[in-house]
Amino acid sequence: MFDAIIKFVREQYATNDFVPLHAPVFRGREQEYVTETITSTFVSSVGTFVDQFEHDVAAYTGSARATATVNGTAALHTALMLAEVGRGDLVITQPLTFVATCNAVAYCGAEPVFIDVDRATLGLCPHALAKWLETHAFVGDDALCHRKSDGRIIRACLPMHTFGHPVALDEMVAVCALWNIALIEDAAESLGSLYKGRHTGTFGKLGTLSFNGNKIITTGGGGMVLSGEALGSRAKHITTTAKRPHPYEFDHDEIGFNYRLPNINAALGCAQLEQLDKFICAKRELASRYRELLRSSQIRFVEEPENCRSNYWLNAVICETKAQRDAMLKATNEAGVMTRPIWRLMTGLSHYSNCQRGDLSNAQWLEERIVNVPSSVLPEGSL
Ligand SMILES: *Cc1c(COP(=O)(O)O)cnc(C)c1O
Repeated sequence: MFDAIIKFVREQYATNDFVPLHAPVFRGREQEYVTETITSTFVSSVGTFVDQFEHDVAAYTGSARATATVNGTAALHTALMLAEVGRGDLVITQPLTFVATCNAVAYCGAEPVFIDVDRATLGLCPHALAKWLETHAFVGDDALCHRKSDGRIIRACLPMHTFGHPVALDEMVAVCALWNIALIEDAAESLGSLYKGRHTGTFGKLGTLSFNGNKIITTGGGGMVLSGEALGSRAKHITTTAKRPHPYEFDHDEIGFNYRLPNINAALGCAQLEQLDKFICAKRELASRYRELLRSSQIRFVEEPENCRSNYWLNAVICETKAQRDAMLKATNEAGVMTRPIWRLMTGLSHYSNCQRGDLSNAQWLEERIVNVPSSVLPEGSL
């Protein structure tokens, strides 16, 4: 089976060279726009491409506002600050995620609580969340949600749309509303993914995107905070050193951050966004070919959840056993076809090992079996 996968991947990318897991493609107006920033000298924190990129991402996602940041981690940190996550607070998230999700919580002086994922979506499970809250939390006289054991405030819930597959958002929204917990979506991997026709990252109080080099579109490095109008203005303010507008005076009214996305990066983003729908088509085509390849195999292809349109950013398969996974990783990588296991659970990292956790059986089961397979946008000749 591994030989068939290796052969298949080589055919898709029409190459006998090394095949990376995910490489960016620049087939649009990238050169033109980036050159424009150099010609105009506006390469840095001010420029028309930043405004255009924010406007275009807001329009694409249907978010009232989109605020550009220097990377996705900074977008998460900003979103958590806007949800008033502070020292001593708790934030519920999933153990199966990229470390940035938890690091942003830690930057706020808050602590993650790990709740299990759903095997179908790979993301935070709303039923596990509801069950954990019923046992471990209460809504106090202050209308806030507290942990029973020590009274600490459970301020936010931060699900992540793994590899572009949306979590069960209707249920997630309902549970968070019932317990008065702010919902923030880490949509770093799910630009272009829809849940019941609506864009991920727009269901909660705030959502965040990433435009790192390995994401579906890239700005080199970059991120975005999705929000309503009022929070959008706050996001802009605290990510631009909290400077009050004035033609020449320096007046900063709180501790702000320099989390601005440079104009040269935004130029790349504008050109990439113009191609996003094409990229999604190419990715969905590749996904359907992987599905066909694995139809009668014991290795299961990860499909988009019901009622969703996934961007299939990074394709994944589920092996039957850890031994099979290890054999697949070895065979493919030795053949120059890059594959990778899913992240280690966050509870396995020393700095998050003491955080509270619910039952994590699904996350543990998936951790031992998931392999990501090459997923770059297919060459035009292969479509
Ligand atoms: C990529 C990613 C981020 C943000 O990463 P940056 O490299 O800081 O842009 C956050 N969360 C998840 C799940 C990611 O995959």
